[in-house]
Amino acid sequence: MKRIYLDNASSTPVSALAQKAVTETSKKFHGNPSGIHKEGRSARAVLEAARASVAESVSARHDEIVFTSGATEANNLAISGVVRACGIAKPRIIVSAIEHASVIEIARTFESAGMQVDYLHVDSRGLIDTKELRKLITRETALVSIMYANNEIGTIEPIADIAKEIRHARKMNGSSYPYFHTDAAQAGNYLDINVLRIGVDLMTLSSAKTYGPRGIGALFVKRGVNLLSQMYGGEHEGGRRPGTEAVALVCGFAEALHEAQKMSAKEGKRVQKLRDALAIKIIKKVSSASVNGSLEHSLPNILNISFEGVESEALVLYLDAVGVAVSGKSSCKSYEGGPSHVILAIGKVGESGQAGSIRFSLGRGTKSKDITHVANEVTRLTLFLRESQVQSDAV
Ligand code: PMP
Repeated sequence: MKRIYLDNASSTPVSALAQKAVTETSKKFHGNPSGIHKEGRSARAVLEAARASVAESVSARHDEIVFTSGATEANNLAISGVVRACGIAKPRIIVSAIEHASVIEIARTFESAGMQVDYLHVDSRGLIDTKELRKLITRETALVSIMYANNEIGTIEPIADIAKEIRHARKMNGSSYPYFHTDAAQAGNYLDINVLRIGVDLMTLSSAKTYGPRGIGALFVKRGVNLLSQMYGGEHEGGRRPGTEAVALVCGFAEALHEAQKMSAKEGKRVQKLRDALAIKIIKKVSSASVNGSLEHSLPNILNISFEGVESEALVLYLDAVGVAVSGKSSCKSYEGGPSHVILAIGKVGESGQAGSIRFSLGRGTKSKDITHVANEVTRLTLFLRESQVQSDAV
């Protein structure tokens, strides 16, 4: 049975070009890039060429790219690095209510330690309100962290408008704070990640979501931004992230990001057509099914649907058994019970108490015939699960 993989927001397959870059670099360049011998110097040269390529993909300068183990580490570094370096006596931060766990959990940790954290509300589409943001910024706000695109419902936040709002606040405060960080882990395949155009100070990138190797990501840190390393060790990555660089992974990531940005417009249009077709088919065929968020303000590849009275995990497992991979919520939280904080934040919990939300995330491998098949299976299985529920309630 051929599998249909609709969990690309969790992780994408590795592209052939990225895989080739990883394999060839690991074979040819084994030296430690900090070594001053020939092997070290050659490894350094390929590492820096890859850094320049990642920088070019986002219109940054090469020294503004800090490689990390992935988006989780980049988000942690952005928040803890800015808070600890800012020099504000009682720093505050602002995050949106629908951030990924790697932002929410560090924010909560700082909050437990006594720091003021302001959580921005989102509307039913998952969008923040820049007017609420304006009200929340104070002279003590060191950082605003708002994701570019949400990983569960796909909502694209108005990043350029938020950046404008923050620049305005800085001017009014006569301060270089707050900085603006965005988690762009989900944005690399389909959105404009040119840091000059969108106007961010820090931006998280992920390789595993952009058809690159796992275990590598980056944080864009604008020149002049004060950031303290969260780990102790050597002077790697401009003193911002110690540890011997993963040269081969960096090369694969650079290749993947370049490829993703090149394909972005065309591939975005293609998956959006398929995603919209899937939404229409499911909504037409399955009663009490509704889209979470909005298809208008969202990534072209993400569709999140609530099925009233259906348990999300059960549907994920039944779909898996018939060859379809989807997820119930962010895979980082998929073993926790209850609806996700994102579904709760947009005010969408089913009347029966079961949100039953499923995320379908399409990718380069998704074909038109997959859509028809998945819609049919979802229809059949939701009916089956609802009937089983009725029968077990009757016993
Ligand atoms: N941010 C977002 C928006 C994500 O979707 C993810 C992955 N689910 C992460 C951060 C964390 O990425 P990683 O697990 O690769 O560190």
